[in-house]
Amino acid sequence: MTKEIEQFAQLGIGEALTAALLEYGIETPSPIQAEAIPPILEGRDVLAQSQTGTGKTLCYLLPLLERIDPEKKETQVLVIAPTQELAMQIVREGEKYGAALGIGTIGLIGGASAARQIEKLRQRPHLAVGTPGRLRELLSTRKLKLHEVRTIVLDEADQIFQMGGADDVRSLLKGALRDRQLVFLSATLGPDVRGLAQREMRDPVDVGIEPEQKLVKLTQHLYFECQQRDRIDTLRRVVRHYNPERAIVFVNQADTIAEVEAKLNHLGLEARTLYGDSDKVTRATVLSQFRSGKFRLLVATDVAARGLDIPGLELVVHLDPATDSEHYVHRAGRTGRMGRKGLSVSIVTDRQAFIMRRFSRELGTEIQERAMYDGVVLDPAEADERRSRRTSKSPSAGRSDSAKAPAKPAARSGAAPSARSAETPLDGAERQGADGGPAAVRPKPAAKPAGRGPKGGKKQPNKDKGAPKWLKDKRSPQDPS
Ligand code: AMP
Repeated sequence: MTKEIEQFAQLGIGEALTAALLEYGIETPSPIQAEAIPPILEGRDVLAQSQTGTGKTLCYLLPLLERIDPEKKETQVLVIAPTQELAMQIVREGEKYGAALGIGTIGLIGGASAARQIEKLRQRPHLAVGTPGRLRELLSTRKLKLHEVRTIVLDEADQIFQMGGADDVRSLLKGALRDRQLVFLSATLGPDVRGLAQREMRDPVDVGIEPEQKLVKLTQHLYFECQQRDRIDTLRRVVRHYNPERAIVFVNQADTIAEVEAKLNHLGLEARTLYGDSDKVTRATVLSQFRSGKFRLLVATDVAARGLDIPGLELVVHLDPATDSEHYVHRAGRTGRMGRKGLSVSIVTDRQAFIMRRFSRELGTEIQERAMYDGVVLDPAEADERRSRRTSKSPSAGRSDSAKAPAKPAARSGAAPSARSAETPLDGAERQGADGGPAAVRPKPAAKPAGRGPKGGKKQPNKDKGAPKWLKDKRSPQDPS
């Protein structure tokens, strides 16, 4: 047995599960797992501040699977999650690891056939994972009985509240045994979550990695200022420069998402969308295609992307700035996971720049301003200096190359960034995970410029001026919500 497996064993996880973990390449407990597993195994109530990407799902699943008695045909553990995707992810993990112990898992998730779930419930699966609305519906029709449930987990408790699930949670807690074990996990511990914990938990163990600390450690936070009409082009340059394998692009409003998708595809950036009301099959297909690398940019709203676990996600772009610092933390938390480096880039107008300063203050993490000049990412002062140097040499040269106008991508490979402030793309050493994960280096984008002429000049052929695809798509949007 290797040292790493002993660590999970030292936390009280049995041989069957440590072997299953090893099969999936999980050897060393993450900090939250090391902290949360022992008290959960003891049956204590636990209030954990944690984001996705810290190993939070297994921090409760592993000890709870250990606590389940597979001989008893009863639903012993109930996990409540805010969204269908997160619930499905938890079901998958439950099935994966539960199988090693003969434990059955059921998903009681909105959007899927209730009849099938009711049928499966008759077999009394040991572990049930569900979304608040469907769980309450099954409880009120007495299809779901909670009198044997010994543990209730609220995963992403803050989101459950934000999405209006407070009443559902209250009914579920009322229907359960009085001396049940409670485990709450939440990225932020706002008054709702704290209040519920105070009312319902008994002497809870606090477990927490401050999200701020996680943000500081693992993710670099940058913002680029541009004019409103240049947002998509700035996004294009950010993607071209950092060259991530995959990135999530956040927008605030679902009704413009199809337009953003169409514009990005028009620029050759392979984008697809995920929004709140897409049907379950479409969403599952989009996500699995994104995970397997079939396309590069996932354009999503906050609700749609909640809790998503996309392994190896290197870049999160806020095409619209997050509505508050909590949302910022949630979005940025998609990257920089499990010890890997991540990058969070906000694209803002000059009127929105103050939001970045506010988030920096509230999160205690500096979100640094950067500017793009000649395809190189620079400190804004440095970009200004270079711009004025060029302008003074040749007034016409600088005109089309302001920080707020498209840079010339072909110049990137030739330009020598200043050692002080130039940023490098996410390849080579930058691409390598902090945990020493493999560094998948792809050819730099300049080698394969989509839609650019041989000299790398800005491509604006006449046909683009006519009726671009996104405009046509806008006339018949894909039912944005
Ligand atoms: P979560 O925070 O639950 O969303 O987990 C994020 C990802 O990390 C998932 O893909 C897990 O399978 C993975 N993971 C969980 N625990 C560990 C660990 N101890 N070591 C490596 N990967 C892990």
